[in-house]
Amino acid sequence: MIATGASFNANEELPTTFPLIDTHTHFDAPVFDIDRDEQLQRAYQQGVRHLVLVGYLQRHFERMYDTERFINKQYPSLAAQSDAQKKSYLTAHIALGLHPFYIEQHTEAHLESMAQMLDKKRPLAIGEIGLDTFTEEMKQPEMFAKQQYFFNAQLDMAVHHKLPVMLHIRKAHADALALLKAHDYDAHKLGGIAHSFSGGEQEAKAFVKLGFKLGVTGQVTNPNAKKLRRAIQAAVDSYGINCLVIETDCPDMTPIMCQESGSSQSALGQSPDNEWGDAPAHNRNVPANLPWVLQSLSELLDVPLAILAQKLWHNSCSALQTDWYYPT
Ligand SMILES: [Zn+2]
Repeated sequence: MIATGASFNANEELPTTFPLIDTHTHFDAPVFDIDRDEQLQRAYQQGVRHLVLVGYLQRHFERMYDTERFINKQYPSLAAQSDAQKKSYLTAHIALGLHPFYIEQHTEAHLESMAQMLDKKRPLAIGEIGLDTFTEEMKQPEMFAKQQYFFNAQLDMAVHHKLPVMLHIRKAHADALALLKAHDYDAHKLGGIAHSFSGGEQEAKAFVKLGFKLGVTGQVTNPNAKKLRRAIQAAVDSYGINCLVIETDCPDMTPIMCQESGSSQSALGQSPDNEWGDAPAHNRNVPANLPWVLQSLSELLDVPLAILAQKLWHNSCSALQTDWYYPT
């Protein structure tokens, strides 16, 4: 059993909502097929106004575009709307990328197909890309070299198209920093997010120094996530709240107060063949849970919710090189 230390009911919703951007989701995953529409309504009610569908396998790129269309058909594009109407919609966006955890499955043809898609329809970002040595197998030199090759190739595409990147770095922070420093990609100019940041204090500061924002997930809601909390605090002490964005990474990273039994297993990262297909629906994370990340971060940093929410909105826009209207 995990002690939540939380004073609220698992099924309670936060009393006040703030406009939020979910910077990292896999809301196109089949685990949402049964109730995607209902979950969109819930996310909207909880303040979520933009969500990013992040790529991991080339074979799912079309599914991401279908999901984006499905969402934006119900919540039409902001472009033609008045300010009053802009308050009423939730908009989906796409990041295209080949995830390092699935490195075995990626091929040169997938890189080419991604390059063609980038030419045809400009996504919001490139991602998720990076390095992951979570398992012994992925530490093997051949596997790691292939990860580095795909990471570099996708950074090249980001530079070519002037797009921000979403980084997935797990147990490979030093190598990722070295690779980024050697590459032309400049996060100070192009933006970028170190998604679901999991490194230590020095690493957090090093990524921020390079120009990346740190993506904070529901992991921060766990009082026992001491290393993560210290890393966030250290980065904020040195660089201010400007260095943070929030995300659900749904269906993973369920906030502790939303978990109905024990801990939620990370389906992505545990079983490449599963891809959340067998994830129990009651334990999956959903975009509507994003306010719990805001709340925990507000408590950790001792910054009022309203101020933090507005700051995170603008940080997200800066990291994603956009200028989305802030609904007041
Ligand atoms: Zn992800």
